[in-house]
This record gives sequence, C-alpha cells and structure tokens, in this order.
Amino acid sequence: MDYDITVIGGGPGGYESAIKAAQLGKKVCIVESTHFGGVCLNEGCIPTKTLIKTANVFQDAKTANKFAVEGVDVENIKVSMQKLQKRKNTVVSQLVNGVKALLKGNKVTIVEGKAVFVDKNTIVVGDKKITSEYFVIATGSNTFMPPFIAQEGKTNIITSKEALDLDYVPETMAIIGGGVIGVEFAYILSRLGSKVYVLELMDKILPMVDEEVSNMAKKRLSSEGTTFYTGAKVKKVSGNNVVYELKGKEEFVTADVVLMAVGRTPNTDGLNAEGIGIEFNKKAIKTDNSLRTNIPNIYAIGDVNGKVMLAHTASHEGIIAVENICGENKTISYDKIPSCIYIDPEIACIGLTEAAAKEKYKNVKVGKFPMVANGKSLVEGDTEGIFKVIIDGESNEILGVHLYGKHTTDMISEIALAMTLEATADEVIGTIHPHPTVSEAVAEAFMASVGKPINWL
Ligand code: FAD
Ligand code: NAD
Repeated sequence: MDYDITVIGGGPGGYESAIKAAQLGKKVCIVESTHFGGVCLNEGCIPTKTLIKTANVFQDAKTANKFAVEGVDVENIKVSMQKLQKRKNTVVSQLVNGVKALLKGNKVTIVEGKAVFVDKNTIVVGDKKITSEYFVIATGSNTFMPPFIAQEGKTNIITSKEALDLDYVPETMAIIGGGVIGVEFAYILSRLGSKVYVLELMDKILPMVDEEVSNMAKKRLSSEGTTFYTGAKVKKVSGNNVVYELKGKEEFVTADVVLMAVGRTPNTDGLNAEGIGIEFNKKAIKTDNSLRTNIPNIYAIGDVNGKVMLAHTASHEGIIAVENICGENKTISYDKIPSCIYIDPEIACIGLTEAAAKEKYKNVKVGKFPMVANGKSLVEGDTEGIFKVIIDGESNEILGVHLYGKHTTDMISEIALAMTLEATADEVIGTIHPHPTVSEAVAEAFMASVGKPINWL
C-alpha cells in the first residue's frame, strides 16, 4: 500500500483527520479537489463571520453617539461592498494557506485533484493511482436547490455561496428557510441595508434552538427591520415573486434577489462510493457512532455522513475516526455538540430544549437569568437576551443550555466541558466566574435552576 491512511477532502473534517493521523505516526495522504479548508473556510463559517463583523462594526459606528463618541457622520456612513469582499478574501486566503502549511509541516502528502474509488483500497486522482490501507471520506456537502420548490420564468435565485460574493446590497431580499443560514444572512443583509423577508415552514425560526430564545431573537431581528413569515410553506419562485402557502391561503412576497436556504446535501458526486458497495442513508454515507461505514477500512466523517453539519463536528469526528483506525474504540456524543448563531446578540446552545427535555424526562428544572441584570451587558450597551438552563430535577445533571446575549459563542465551551465531565448545576455554581463578564450570568442561571439567583429577584 502507498499509504496507511488516505483522507479524501481537505475541509475542517479532512485536514484535521490527516494531521492527527500523521501525529499518530501514520503515513498519510490527503486529496483535495477544489480548495483546502473546504466549505467552512472558503464559502461557509469564515466568510459569513467576516461579513457579520462588518455588519457589527457598521452598527457600532452608527450608534457611537450612545457611547459618547462624537463626530461620526451617521447620515453619510456606509459600507464599501468591494472593500468588504477584499477583506473577506484576504481573511480566507490567509487561513487556507495556513491549512496547507500545517499539512506540509506534519509531513502529510498533498494530492490535488478529484478522488474516485476503484476498490476498497484504491482510488484514482486524474491519472494517478493511490492505494491505502484505510480511507477517511470527508467530502462535505453541497448547496441544495430543492425539487419541491418550483421555478417559473426568469428568476434571481442564489445560494449562500453567491450571497457571500455579493458586491452590492440588494434593495429587497427574500430568504427561503429560517434555519441558521437564513437567519445569519437575514441579519447581515438587513444590517447592511436590505429589506429582508424570511419565509420559514415551521412555526418558529431556528428550529433547533429553544423556543423562548428563538422567539426573542425573532422579535429583535423584526425590530431591526426583517419581516418573518413562519408556518409559510414556499411552493414556487415565479420571476421575482416567492409564492408560499400560509394557513391554507396562497400568498407571495416580491424581492430583487431570492436566497435559497433550506438545507444542504451530502456530497459524494463522482466519488464512486456506491460503486464499491458503500451503504447510504438517502444521500448521506451511513456510519455508526465510531464513524465506520459498512466497509471496515473506510470511515466517513463530517457533512458527508449527514449527522450534524457543523465544522467542529466534522473535525471531532475526523479525530475519532483516525484514533479508531489506530486501535481505539471511541464514539461521539451527538447530544453534547454546541451550536452557535452569530447574530447580534449571539445565540449559543447545547443539549436539549426545554420542550424536548420535558418529553424525555419526568422531572425537569429550568433556570433563567436575564441580561438586563448583567453588569457587563449594560456596559456593552445591549441588555437584550436571556440565559436559560435545563437540568434533571433529581440529579441536577445538565440537559440543555441556551445562551442569548453578547459574546455567548465564546462562552458555550464552558458548558460543553461541564457536560463532558458530567458536571451538575451545583458544580457550575461552585466555579468562580470572573467579574465583570457576561459569563457570570451562566452561574446565575444555574442558581435559578436550583433555587434563586443572587443578582435577580
Ligand atoms: P467540507 O468543508 O464541505 O469540505 C469537503 C472538501 O472535500 C471540499 O474542500 C471539497 O472540495 C472536497 N472534495 C469533495 N469531493 C472530493 C473528491 N472526490 N476528491 C477530493 N476532494 C473532494 N459550521 C460551523 O460549525 N460554524 C459556522 O459558523 C458555519 N457557518 C456556515 C456558513 C455557511 C454559509 C455554510 C454553507 C456552512 C456553514 N457551516 C458552519 C457548516 C460548515 O461549513 C460545514 O459543517 C463544514 O465545512 C463541514 O466540513 P467537512 O470537512 O465535512 O466538509
Ligand atoms: P437548516 O436545516 O438549518 O434550515 C433550513 C430551514 O428551511 C428549516 O428551518 C426548514 O424548516 C426550512 N424549510 C424547508 N423547506 C421549506 C419550504 N418549502 N418553505 C420554507 N421553509 C422551508 O439549513 P440551512 O440554514 O440551509 O443550513 C445548512 C447547514 O449549514 C446546517 O446544518 C447548519 O448547521 C450549517 N450552518 C451552520 C452555521 C453556524 O453554525 N453558525 C451557519 C450556517 C450554516
């Protein structure tokens, strides 16, 4: 065999698997067809957050007066979309180059091109044949144009990929889907000046987030100008009209640009995975909790297995897959994966929602702490938000945490660690949180779940 382990795909799942495998002493090859860093670095996490940073700076500049900063010409302040694109591309290319340097530094062999399976131990990349004892498939996911939403006439439908490259701010934008992509783009475009309409099938936006938190976020985004239609089933896009059904009635909104954001689809295009007998679950490669496919020497990690389409899940799964190849028998706890939404204020959550916890457990206790009672949030000038914790009523074990407030995406790791260590509410309360920080409210919310918070009546 040419290699011990060959990783197919250089996204956050693939490149971290390759580095881990090399660190464990394996002879490793990575094959990437388009650009290292995958969707995350090139057309996902990093570019969206770069746009979000500018949306936040723009808002801070417009409201500088509130913080006693004078002289900002609020009437004429504007964002240069060309300069924003340039900054986004610089950030992306710096990170992509960093990935290549890390791979080379760890002595991973890089092969550029598209991998196609020949058999369970062989792929071809162009005219190059590569044999390997093990394979880790990390081919990610693609944008999705749903067949159940018809298209009529001349439409202007884009996906998140094109939305990231916009060099102008559309006057009006309709977003189909109020999931994470829909809500983050609604936030970006609305703050940059578009009139945004979001059409969501379910009766709430961000279906994975606790309802109380997602309702608060919806109210906040609505107050900033985004119009939400929930319970709205989009049926077709006809020219500039997005036609949806709401409470049995057909309605439409008209927009210059339509963003399709109803999910993504696992990518195995041209890989010939079916051809060598790999089993699928719809479009996703089927794996067990150890990331093994039905073929013992082939693992599948990240978006392509369709379990939890997040970058940190892909990386974590990749490391577990490689460790299992090296003789461990590890599994991943899908109930302890944090999920973050980078609007302002931010949402960060992990574990069960209150409704899901009450379905699963007999005795559930809920604790809440409002940001209006948090000193640092007041200093930051934004007291919107709430920290909500859900614990088991008998053991005080943490079941779910939903944070809506400033800096929460940097705070959720504390809860992920606590849940990994199977800590209880009492142990989080017994942990000293620095003052003044928004993180103090984490302890206060847990105090509320077992009795009373100190800084709220
Ligand atoms: P990918 O990143 O998709 O990488 C797969 C790689 O495989 C690609 O580079 C592709 O070119 C390559 N490839 C495919 N087929 C072959 C082949 N046959 N041969 C060789 N190479 C191949 N997640 C978060 O956690 N946080 C966020 O803030 C976040 N924001 C997002 C924003 C947007 C707009 C989008 C679209 C996604 C976002 N995500 C976010 C999701 C995140 O990008 C994905 O979960 C993550 O990229 C998945 O990583 P992966 O390694 O599985 O696959
Ligand atoms: P999603 O599954 O989060 O949301 C899609 C939404 O579209 C759902 O709420 C669904 O109810 C709705 N929908 C489906 N059919 C519809 C119809 N006919 N009419 C109206 N609404 C309809 O998918 P997404 O937002 O496209 O994101 C894709 C993936 O990318 C997700 O897995 C997400 O985790 C990942 N992502 C993560 C981040 C982050 O972590 N911050 C950011 C962006 C994307």
